[in-house]
Parts: sequence; C-alpha cells; structure tokens
Amino acid sequence: MLSFFPKPYPDEILYSILARYHIRSGNLALKLTLRDLFNSSHAIATVDLPCNLTAIAANLSLISEITVKELIQNHTLYPFYAAFLPKERSQQVFEAMQSEQGGGIHGTAGIRASTVRVPKFFRFCPQCIQSDWEQHGELYWHRIHQVPGVLVCPDHAELLHSSSVPLQGFNRHEYQAASFDNCVTNQIHRDLSDRSLELLVQLSRDVQFLLTNELLARDLNWFSKQYISLLTEQGLATATGQVNQHQLIDRFLYFYGHQVLAALDSTVDPSRDQNWLSSIFRKHRKAFHPIRHLLVIRFLGISIAEFFRDDRNYQPFGAGPWLCLNAAAQHYLKPVVTRLDISRCYDAKKPVGTFSCSCGFVYCRTGPDQTEADRYRIGKIKAVGGVWQRKLKRIVEVERSGLRETARRLHVDPNTVKRYVKLLGLTPSWQSVQPEELLEEEHSPAPKLHPKTVRADHRATWKQLQRQHPHASKTELRQFASACYAWLYRNDRTWLHQNSPSLRQPVAQNNRVDWPSRDAQILVEVQQAVQKLLTAEKPLRITITRVAKSIAQLALIEQHLDKLPLTQAYLDSVTESIEDVQIRRVHWAAEQLDRQAEVIEPWKIIRMAGLRPNYSEKVARAIEQVISNHSAKLLVLSRSVK
Ligand SMILES: [Zn+2]
Ligand SMILES: [Zn+2]
Repeated sequence: MLSFFPKPYPDEILYSILARYHIRSGNLALKLTLRDLFNSSHAIATVDLPCNLTAIAANLSLISEITVKELIQNHTLYPFYAAFLPKERSQQVFEAMQSEQGGGIHGTAGIRASTVRVPKFFRFCPQCIQSDWEQHGELYWHRIHQVPGVLVCPDHAELLHSSSVPLQGFNRHEYQAASFDNCVTNQIHRDLSDRSLELLVQLSRDVQFLLTNELLARDLNWFSKQYISLLTEQGLATATGQVNQHQLIDRFLYFYGHQVLAALDSTVDPSRDQNWLSSIFRKHRKAFHPIRHLLVIRFLGISIAEFFRDDRNYQPFGAGPWLCLNAAAQHYLKPVVTRLDISRCYDAKKPVGTFSCSCGFVYCRTGPDQTEADRYRIGKIKAVGGVWQRKLKRIVEVERSGLRETARRLHVDPNTVKRYVKLLGLTPSWQSVQPEELLEEEHSPAPKLHPKTVRADHRATWKQLQRQHPHASKTELRQFASACYAWLYRNDRTWLHQNSPSLRQPVAQNNRVDWPSRDAQILVEVQQAVQKLLTAEKPLRITITRVAKSIAQLALIEQHLDKLPLTQAYLDSVTESIEDVQIRRVHWAAEQLDRQAEVIEPWKIIRMAGLRPNYSEKVARAIEQVISNHSAKLLVLSRSVK
C-alpha cells in the first residue's frame, strides 16, 4: 500500500510517473520501489504497454481514485495500438496489461520488429520541457513523444529530440525521470521540406486523436470496407472493389514523398506485389501498424475522426447491377451491368461512373445519381459494341431509315449515328439527295445562278446581323435588313433557313413547366398537323421535324420529347420511313394519273412519285400492286361498259 503518489501530469506516460515516485520515495534501491508498486521486485519497466497494472491500482486505492482503466487509457500507448485491432485482440491486450503475466502483449498487439521501428531513446520537445519546467517545476516524459512514428511535437510542430535515456533494452529494471541532464537539446540533422514537416505534424496530431479518444472496437472487415469505399470515392477502386494497384501506389508515393515514408519506415516498393500498401487494402486477417493506417486514412482524404465516426458506404450510383442503356440490346433498360468504374472529374470533383455491359456497350455519366431518372441518363457513350453496330447497319442499310429516326430508335444523338455510319462505312439514305427534296423542288422555281460574291455578301450580312443581335428573332432580323432577307429568301432559301435563329420557346427553358398539360396540348396540335400533312396536295414524308416545324414547336419537340410521352407515342405511330412515304407516293401518283385519265405505267409512277432508281423491293412491289389493281379496275370498267 502506498502512502503517497505523484499526481500524473497531462499525457504523462506511466513510466514517468513511476520514475517520479521512485525519486520522491527516497528508496535507495529500485527493488523497494518495485515492491511498493507491483508487490514484486522483478517487475520490468515496460514503457509502451506495461503489465501488472491491477497491482498498482490496488496499491493506490487508499490515496487516489485513479482506476486501472484510467491508467491504461490515459498513461500508456494502449489506445494507440488498440484503435486498429479487432475487439477480441484489444481486449486480450487490455487484460494482459492488468495481469501479472504480461508476456506476449506485444505479439497480441501486432507490434513486430519489421514494421515501424520503436525509438531507442525517450524523446522530448524542447518547447514542451521549457513550459513544463515553468508550469510544474519539473520535467516529465510525454506519452505522445514516445509513440513510434511521431517525429514532431503536435503542439509545437517542432522536431522531437532524443534524450540519453534508453527506451528499451538497456536496463529493464530502471526508471529514469526526465531532467535537464538527460534532455539535452542536440542538433538535428534532418532536412525536411515544409510539406514533409506539415505531413508529420498532421500525423502526430492524428496519433494524439487516437490517444485521447476511446474509439469503438471494429473487426478487420470493417476496416476493409471503409477502405474500399474510400478508394472508390477517390477513383482508385471499381464499385465492385477492384483496386487499381498501380495508380494507388503512384498517388500514395506522390502524396507523401520518399522523405516522409522513409522517416516512418513505411516506404512502398512498387515493383513488389507484397508491399504493405497493397496488403492493407486486401481483406486482411493480420493487424497493421497504426501509423500505416493513419497514413492511408489521410491519403484517402479524410480525418481520423471522420473515419471512425461514419460507416462509409460510397455508392454514388446506387447498388449494382446497373441498367444497360443500349437501345439495340434485348436487355435494354434491364439491370445487367456488373462493372462500374468510378473516377473523379477534375474541375467539379464529382464522381464519374463508367458502366460497361457484356453487350459491349460502355457509357458514362457524372454523378451522384439523385433521382430515379438519373439511372437512365447517359452522359457520354464510350463504346457502342457489336450488338449496337449490327442494329445500326440494319436500320440504315436495310430499313433505310433517316438520320433522325435512326438516332431516335437507337436513343442516341444524330451525331453519334453519323460518326458510326462513317466509321463502319455504311451507305445511309440521307447521304444522297433525298427523294422528298427532289419532289419539293419540282414545284418550286429552280434557284438562279448568281455570282458567288453577291451570295457571299448577303450571307455575310445576315450572319453579321445575328452576331450583333444575338437574341433577335428571324422576324426582327428581317426588319433590320429587309433587302438582304428578300434576296436570300428568293435565291438562297435553304441556307437562309438553316442560318436563322430558330423559333424561341421560352417555355422550354422554364423548369416549372406543367409537362402533362403541355403534352396534352401539343398532342392536339400535332394530330391536327399530321392530318393536314396527310391530306396535303402532294405527299410529304411525316417526320418529327416536319410536324414540329409545322406547329412552330421545333425546339420544344427536339429537346423535350422525352417529357411529352403522349406526343411521343403518337409521333412514333405516324412518322414514316423513306420507304413508307415512297409507297404512299406510289399510290398517290397512281391516283393522279388515273384522275388525269393517263395510262398508268411504271415509269410514269416513278417520275411522278420522285423515286430514285435505288428504291427498295417493297416499293417495287407497291408499284406492281397499283398497276395490277388499276388493270383489274379497267377490266371491270370495260366489262361493265360492254
Ligand atoms: Zn512541444
Ligand atoms: Zn447491354
């Protein structure tokens, strides 16, 4: 039983308290002190994880309220080592520290000689000992300064100095208190860059956090999960947990630099598969040195407090499998994509997901997904794959669909269609002059040839005008330069049309549009427009663009058809392929010829319908059909005349 005991100083390591006790006890032999404290003269002065602490607490019970738990938690390195140990292991260490038999503590705590080296001497911070002297009139050994890997004082950001008191191995039955005699400030030859110093200060503060917070024990899998989630957040692992080792090592080495890693015995050899950095991210069964965990956590961009506070589950695109957005695939819109790579876009720091499907279709989008609709969004197509290419070929070369329709059917923009048509060397219908254009031109006067300069001048004027008045409508521009407009209208109408501001739809920019009622209203207009087109004097192909233009809603329909489901469904049902309109023209031509009492012959139909020689089988059959129908009709007529 002790009759007195020194009051522990803040963050004083137990060894230091006992050393001060020894001085004050006046015991000449250390054996006596050991017997006072431990009831045994053979106790070993272990600095980091001492044992037999129940004995000390019991001997203190009459004069102090300090508990064994407080001794362990506040005056040993236990909290530092326990933070990254699984619960059973930290519990074992804790129990061993209380018991008389402390053998194997270091093994259980995962402290191995091969990792971060334990310092050889007690260390001190010159500024700390100065202020300790002023405040307490004596020096003491600070716990944090004795932690392996702490090279800098967290309070003063100053490099620690080694004292002359050995921390281990020298005389294991000795307790030496800190004093100005053994804490001599020596020259430190460590050339640290500002960045390195900053990293080491950060690390010592993280250690301080471990020492001063009682953290919840976690199992090793919890650490693996946290790490994979953070790696994914940093674009260093796929959403399914595959770590990009090369990039990881590169970025880690760049982040810390050789100087810091060497000082912490934690260099990483990229040429070796079995480096500690790669291993710490595997589902591990063994413990890693706390310093290495701290290095990894800072590298992954969060503080140690955040790391322990939140269970990380980083899924900016939700849980897989994810949707295949290849409109050409049978599994379109089905959750079949199992590979998702997440990276970061550099400017906005947002996650970018790259979804790779087994059908070869690879798309990406910027996340995180915030609504259900985001799951259907393609930011960019990275690869279309074989399935998509075969479908494109069929639509373009066999079904002879137009550009816009092809794009719509494959749910991509027309430029993507154009690019792949070129890439695959396909011959689409839209690269030659379209029959409908020929037909329209028959009825409009042929443009007269003008000297190129006149046209160029007018075009330049018109363009210039638009630059000066970027928000003016076509009608407004026309008032600014009526002569120019008139000339272009008469002589260069197509160009004029393509190079004028399109109709502005303020509604299209308004986020608060009531889309369902807008849809219903547009549907009515569209239905009327289609009826009008179908009864037009000459058959014009029903296309989305044509219908949209005829109701002056091109911008709205081009940009927001997806928000107009009724209109979209109706348009899908009425829009025509080139073949469709050709067949309709064949019937129309036959009717016209019949009305004009002309003999119906294939060449007349072909000319009148404006068919080019490469029309399809189906169109050819339609021509045969109308001729045979007509002959049959004539036959009936001639019979009835008879
Ligand atoms: Zn200090
Ligand atoms: Zn797919």
